[in-house]
Amino acid sequence: MKIALIAHDKMKPEMIEFAKKYKYILKQHQLVATGTTGHKIIEATGLNIKCFRSGPLGGDQEIGAQVANGEIDIIFFFRDPLTAQPHEPDVSALLRLSDVYQIALATNPATAEHVIASLI
Ligand code: PGA
Repeated sequence: MKIALIAHDKMKPEMIEFAKKYKYILKQHQLVATGTTGHKIIEATGLNIKCFRSGPLGGDQEIGAQVANGEIDIIFFFRDPLTAQPHEPDVSALLRLSDVYQIALATNPATAEHVIASLI
């Protein structure tokens, strides 16, 4: 499977914990991420991740393009629901495309636990 990992700034600690906890599963899959999220996960886990641009600089759109091309199977996108994001239109576009192409999309850690359990 090809899995995309994205986390807003305040959710990055949760994403790193998630990646550490499930490294043994994630390492069996092809991983992509937005820039800052990806580099932080690589630093913490050593996982092999293709990093796109940072989200606010177009990384969400790059992942959206992969969704539109049928290249992504699962997205773990830990969103911060309490902070306005300068790139909210990009975030909305990615969420919309995930529904258009019916990609499994976990937008919080609780849902992510269930989705990743399906990969065990
Ligand atoms: P980042 O982007 O991983 O580069 O911080 C995530 C986002 O906010 O979309």
